[in-house]
Amino acid sequence: MEEKKSFMWSPWHGCHKVSPGCQNCYVEYLDKQFKKDSNIVSRNITNFNMPIRLNRNRQYTIPSGSEVATCFTSDFFIEEADLWRQDAWDIIRKRPDLHFLIPTKRLNRFLQSVPKDWSHGYDNVSIAVSVENQILADKRVPILLSLPIKHKEIFIAPILEPIDIEEYLSSGQIERVLVGGESYDNARVCNFDWVLSLKEQCVRQNVSFSFHQTGSNFVKDGKTYKINHYKEYEQAKKANIDYKRTY
Ligand code: SF4
Repeated sequence: MEEKKSFMWSPWHGCHKVSPGCQNCYVEYLDKQFKKDSNIVSRNITNFNMPIRLNRNRQYTIPSGSEVATCFTSDFFIEEADLWRQDAWDIIRKRPDLHFLIPTKRLNRFLQSVPKDWSHGYDNVSIAVSVENQILADKRVPILLSLPIKHKEIFIAPILEPIDIEEYLSSGQIERVLVGGESYDNARVCNFDWVLSLKEQCVRQNVSFSFHQTGSNFVKDGKTYKINHYKEYEQAKKANIDYKRTY
């Protein structure tokens, strides 16, 4: 089966720390390399329209059926983007043939940020609540469950400890759980046992599961491995523990 193509779309850039998972924020880390202040949130001038951009043949540059990872260098629901978000929703509405994955730590701003025609959600949008520990899973996942969203996911990155979300998975509302470790300097440990425990919870509740990156400090069978950032995805894939739910 042909694998779905995936694209990154950053309609705006920059963010503010809101929880322990943000301690070593990768956006801050990468911006520092360019002497940029990641706290300044700015609209992406060159790539704002990326999902509706056309090539020379007047075809969309992002092919139909692709997944669009949206706003991974900011938060889609951040306050500063209130002025620009309507334009982003308009773009999302114009591409019902793409699937937009939007991770967020700011579900408290969700209802005031959706477009007028949102109703129970758009078919082409998944909202992934981002959590990193048990306290925040218990705080944020119930909010996700209470909201009118057609496709709901849990994004556990960077995972910082063992997390039990099985009660939430048993609601039948969560379509996928994505797990990853922390990257770059000072990265905290990602223990494979925590990842496996989440996979088992997903299998028991028939929820899709994906381990997408090991993090830079990966612990397996009591041994710590330093993983080059560019190998984190490949190493996670090698673990071969992803699970696809059956319908
Ligand atoms: S929410 Fe994400 S992008 Fe924003 S500060 Fe936290 S880790 Fe960085």
